[in-house]
Amino acid sequence: MAVTTPRSAPSQSKVGPYRAAVVHEFHTPLSVEEVPARPLEPGQIRVQVEASGLCHTDIHAANGDWPVKPTPPFVPGHEGVGIVRELGPGVTEVALGDRVAMPWLGYACGTCDHCVSGWETLCLEQKNMGYSIDGGFGEYATAYARYVVNVPDGIDPLDAAPLTCAGVTTYKAVKVAGTRSSDLVAVFGVGGLGHLAIQYAAIAGGRVVAVDLIDEKLELAKKLGAEFTINATNQDPVEEIQALGGADQAIALAVSPKAFEQAYGTLRRGGKLVFVALPADNEVTLPIFETVLNGITIVGSIVGTRTDLREVFELHAAGKTHVIREVRSLDTVNESIADVEAGRVAARIVFQL
Ligand code: NAD
Ligand code: ZN
Ligand code: ZN
Repeated sequence: MAVTTPRSAPSQSKVGPYRAAVVHEFHTPLSVEEVPARPLEPGQIRVQVEASGLCHTDIHAANGDWPVKPTPPFVPGHEGVGIVRELGPGVTEVALGDRVAMPWLGYACGTCDHCVSGWETLCLEQKNMGYSIDGGFGEYATAYARYVVNVPDGIDPLDAAPLTCAGVTTYKAVKVAGTRSSDLVAVFGVGGLGHLAIQYAAIAGGRVVAVDLIDEKLELAKKLGAEFTINATNQDPVEEIQALGGADQAIALAVSPKAFEQAYGTLRRGGKLVFVALPADNEVTLPIFETVLNGITIVGSIVGTRTDLREVFELHAAGKTHVIREVRSLDTVNESIADVEAGRVAARIVFQL
């Protein structure tokens, strides 16, 4: 979808072909290969990628899991962090040598009602890194200068990468949940997103109960501030959390509709369920009567804005959050995807370029 009309000619590329992981066909292994560096359009920059996190969304993208699908060939990755090496015509927002993060929201129009009211993440003209714009799974990536976020000095790019999606998304989800001190917050899924959600809910003053299917993930949840943990393979999260008084908010981060339904069941009266995960199986069954009588709110939450990401970086620079990540080379992309799907990763894999 073309949304800008270049008024001046694109600049000649100063970068030659580079290595990137490319999806040629859904449900087929990615191919790490040389791709050409395209000339920069007005407003674009070229970033030399240092680190790029593997989000479960990249796996959905590579499988064409969602109703709106990307068009192969494309390069996934929306947790890319790197150094600005080239400026396209008219760029004033960043300078050569800046370290920037390239999040999911790769471009928005800047003028629609959503954009001007602080909800740029709802812009209908948006383009997404690693989906409709080639993303961070490459030695270089092209981004729109206006939609990258500067990474403050002192933040390791290997930490900045997971913060660029897993961080900002869960930070925003906790804002949307409206967590206040002493609220009980149920976090379903302690993966890349969940391990940070626990920390943001605790920072907001919430008491956290973490739910997963894997004991190691629940041990990590405890270390990161969860007061209670539940393994849903052998415990009923609804029963256990209702026994604690019910959750004020439940945040659904597990890639399973069943977890959404359980999360709903954990709520106390007046509680709020925040939908964040995007399983391929796109349906849940929730009761109308109980929702009405119990005054339940259900809300979807999509990533976060540039402002949210700045706040995420500020918290991290202040030492308030810990990113749990495993560093790998981009050549491991296919086995890394298999490891995430099988739950064999502590929290996040980050490719070092
Ligand atoms: P992940 O694979 O790292 O984590 C998922 C976790 O859920 C794992 O720890 C897994 O063990 C656990 N899990 C699976 N089934 C479960 C169940 N039935 N009950 C409890 N836990 C269960 O994935 P991720 O990168 O954290 O992403 C999670 C989801 O969020 C994906 O669907 C992704 O596309 C989506 N996402 C949404 C947004 C958004 O803006 N809304 C942003 C980023 C990612
Ligand atoms: Zn993501
Ligand atoms: Zn807009």
